[in-house]
Amino acid sequence: MRVAIIGAGLSGLACAAECEKLGVIPHVFEKDDAIGWPWVTVGLWPTLIYKGFGDVPEYLRKSYDITLKPVARVTKNILKSPNKEVTLNGDLGYYVDRGRKIDSLENQLYRYLKRTAVYMNTPVDYKELAKEYDWVVIATGREKEARELGVWEDLGGARTILVIVAGHFEPNSAILYLNTEYAGTGFARLSPFSKSTAGIGLNIFGKDDIDSMTLVDRLLEIEGLNKYEILYHVVIPPFTNGRVSKFRIGNILLTGHSAGLVETLIGTGSLEAIISGIMAARAIVRNESYDKLIKPIQNHVDNVSSLRPLMDRCTNEDFDKLLSYLDIIGVKQAAVNIPIDTVNMIGKVLKTFNHNKK
Ligand SMILES: Cc1cc2nc3c(=O)[nH]c(=O)nc-3n(C[C@H](O)[C@H](O)[C@H](O)COP(=O)(O)OP(=O)(O)OC[C@H]3O[C@@H](n4cnc5c(N)ncnc54)[C@H](O)[C@@H]3O)c2cc1C
Repeated sequence: MRVAIIGAGLSGLACAAECEKLGVIPHVFEKDDAIGWPWVTVGLWPTLIYKGFGDVPEYLRKSYDITLKPVARVTKNILKSPNKEVTLNGDLGYYVDRGRKIDSLENQLYRYLKRTAVYMNTPVDYKELAKEYDWVVIATGREKEARELGVWEDLGGARTILVIVAGHFEPNSAILYLNTEYAGTGFARLSPFSKSTAGIGLNIFGKDDIDSMTLVDRLLEIEGLNKYEILYHVVIPPFTNGRVSKFRIGNILLTGHSAGLVETLIGTGSLEAIISGIMAARAIVRNESYDKLIKPIQNHVDNVSSLRPLMDRCTNEDFDKLLSYLDIIGVKQAAVNIPIDTVNMIGKVLKTFNHNKK
């Protein structure tokens, strides 16, 4: 069986590893000269979003026999709105390395490949490969191909600007900033890379014509982050969130971001990318229905994304109220400790509500 995988990111590498495990050796084509994003960053596996999966590293190990090592546990999260601040303590998630670091998620997955050839510096066109190969997996981390195939529905653009700073930081902590003055209804997050460096990411949703550097300046000034030494900043290429109407078109399968598997509330999609890559491999090798295999993960993404329209209506006053509510004794601890998958559950209800309104 001839299988081509386009993109050596999370979903492409997970797909290749699972293909190998099932006895098929695919060809992977990567446009860049190395595995992983060129910018240094840490990603988050937030408990609040991934609660339904349980402990994520454990889930991956037990369900798919994949061991991926996070860099740190997140045990403290400070949430800040213009006039309110709340600290959450507990099991809040994991930081994972992304990009070209030796233990980035991408490089950890890459090390699972024993026989697969990964052709670097090889951007390829899926239309050509679809004629040559039995199966083509699109794992390019963008929507271009799904759009061309007529299955992509736009859910809005997103931008991230990352400021790398030096100072003193607690490696197990995160600070989340909510303020429409610079983030609109997106957010900013300070994530320590070590005790002495951190990344401050400003994530803006749905605005195309913005002067992002002015907004970064506003963020640093309003939140007093100018006290840190700014080492450099990275403007990450803008991307589009969306949803696909079909995951398989003939012999072409879409995975990860190319399949719209990034939720639009805060933009997590790394676990979804890994799972979709594995499911694509299983669908191909075992001749199973990819749409069926992918359904649970699509439902998860849809449920979480259903909270976005609510967030889009929030003002700074609403953010203050939300944090005041969270600060009530009991609610704060419940938000961290109850085993219920709250975000997914609320999202599920809102999904029906949003659907009925259309
Ligand atoms: C700035 C940012 C921060 C994020 N933070 C988080 C987070 O904290 N937590 C979380 O869970 N998720 C996060 N996400 C989302 C998550 O990272 C993505 O959903 C995930 O990386 C998608 O995986 P993928 O395999 O679809 O694409 P990617 O991991 O982006 O990989 C795509 C690969 O395809 C290659 N490629 C592209 N076109 C071609 C071509 N024509 N030919 C050959 N190769 C090609 C690219 O070079 C790349 O290597 C973030 C995303 C961004 C952009």
